[in-house]
Amino acid sequence: MSALDQADRIVIKIGSQLLVDPETGQVHRRWLETLGQDIAALRSEGKEVTIVSSGAIAIGRRHLGLSTGKLMLPEQQAAAATGMVRLTHAYQEVLGKHDLTVAQVLLTLDDSENRRRYINARNTLTELLRLGAVPLINENDTVATDEIRFGDNDRLAARVAAMISADLLIMLSDIDGLYTANPQVNSNARFVPEVKGQITPDVEAMAGVQLSGDSKGGMVTKIAAARIALGAGTTAMITLGTVNNPLQRISEGGKCTVFIPDANPRTARKEWIAGSLKPAGKLHVDAGALKALKSGKSLLPAGVKKIEGVFERGDSVAVIDPDGREIARGLVAYHQEEASRIAGHKTGEIEEILGYRGRDEMIHRDDLVLI
Ligand code: GLU
Repeated sequence: MSALDQADRIVIKIGSQLLVDPETGQVHRRWLETLGQDIAALRSEGKEVTIVSSGAIAIGRRHLGLSTGKLMLPEQQAAAATGMVRLTHAYQEVLGKHDLTVAQVLLTLDDSENRRRYINARNTLTELLRLGAVPLINENDTVATDEIRFGDNDRLAARVAAMISADLLIMLSDIDGLYTANPQVNSNARFVPEVKGQITPDVEAMAGVQLSGDSKGGMVTKIAAARIALGAGTTAMITLGTVNNPLQRISEGGKCTVFIPDANPRTARKEWIAGSLKPAGKLHVDAGALKALKSGKSLLPAGVKKIEGVFERGDSVAVIDPDGREIARGLVAYHQEEASRIAGHKTGEIEEILGYRGRDEMIHRDDLVLI
């Protein structure tokens, strides 16, 4: 069984060179149709699919008369604004034939680094998936300047995969996977079918040098992306995208390099919550809440007796039992002021107290780890 068959939540990264004809700036429509068929097939098996696609600059530049040569940053930003419309339109047309709805989401580096923005982006993406849409993500090139930019969609895709706890990140490429050296120049280059646990310096060395041109990626950023994915417990895959029905090819046993993480996304996220964060506050809970937490439930406002500390939505807080011991740690869904107001109240009362309908839980069980 391929890693694709096992995965439920999948991120697919598509580069400019697969999607856009470099001469004409036109989308490779026939190829995209076959990708659309594959995505529809995955959706019909109940899998959730998110697309991270490049191509905005490559498509847009021609429409602004920026046809040849390297673009300056403001030109790239202008080109992206023009091209993104056409890019999204192309995906919607192709996926719409299968009754799928595309949802465009443009992210910047900050959305994956700043905790509050990260949580917002995560919530929106998971909501879109829950509603059955296919998120189509690109970097918000029009506002991202060099210092605050991913610059390549390989790492953006990996951050997105980590953000939504995807099981699998597929990076479609112009090559079928990782080789010990560049096979185009070195006849001794051997194919690497699998990398386990972590990216060692040896693996890094296989990637060679960075590419240039319309595509910002290359093996170097793909390996960097694989490292991000592994850290989040997401399996990463590099495989050939230049063929029609590239995802079907994977299921049929087509060659690919698979990077297998030690943990799964759930454990990796929980380890991150438990280990790497310094709690900004404390939530004291009653015996009923303690029992609920121990049986794997979320922490509801009703079970919270007292609140200490200064925290915002998304900060890490410690959960304290009636005997004063820290029993759990989690990411709180409310600012400390709001949390204090709804503490001890039923979930149904939140809207009346705060004036808006917030989350039902004080800490959702996905954001909570028992200690
Ligand atoms: N975000 C860029 C675009 O849409 C591409 C970045 C990349 O090639 O990885 O044109």
